[in-house]
Amino acid sequence: MRIKIFWDSGALSGLETPASRAIGSILGIPVDLEENGILVTGYDRRRNQSDAQKILARLQLYKKKQRVTDLILLVAKNDLFVKGSDFVFGLAREPVGAAVISTARLKNEFYGREGNDDLLVSRVVTEGTHELGHLLGLDHCSDSQCIMFPPETLDQLDGKKKAFCPVCLGLLTALLGTTREPVPDSST
Ligand SMILES: [Zn+2]
Ligand SMILES: [Zn+2]
Repeated sequence: MRIKIFWDSGALSGLETPASRAIGSILGIPVDLEENGILVTGYDRRRNQSDAQKILARLQLYKKKQRVTDLILLVAKNDLFVKGSDFVFGLAREPVGAAVISTARLKNEFYGREGNDDLLVSRVVTEGTHELGHLLGLDHCSDSQCIMFPPETLDQLDGKKKAFCPVCLGLLTALLGTTREPVPDSST
């Protein structure tokens, strides 16, 4: 299994590679990074947001037409919503193997704070891995430090570690049907 990460131009200028590598290493799955060639649909001018479900429908169509079996994560720059909620950080459609996250609310600037690249990469990694976790079959977790915890605010998001809790990691390992490489003992 592989993961394709599509980057919307301008979503995360220059930081795509470190973010993608970190996502791949947390999941233990190889990641291919590509500039997004898919039209980001569902823009609602009144809300200045895009409908995440319409974007997933577009990704679904793309996967079917191109016969792509890899999981796809689209990192979009537009702020996202779904019907009935003000915004979403991201959305995953497990049966299709496609997910989308937005960098709009992961940037300090959105909240009137000074920009911070390290924080931005960290948030993209946490959110991106969370949605991919759904695609791999994981549900939400009540451990507020676990990647699968559903954050409602930026502070909750920043309270998460870039790692799965032991329970979710165990589930993930079972779902992937592999045993992870044991970490060698350190000599000191
Ligand atoms: Zn979730
Ligand atoms: Zn967990």
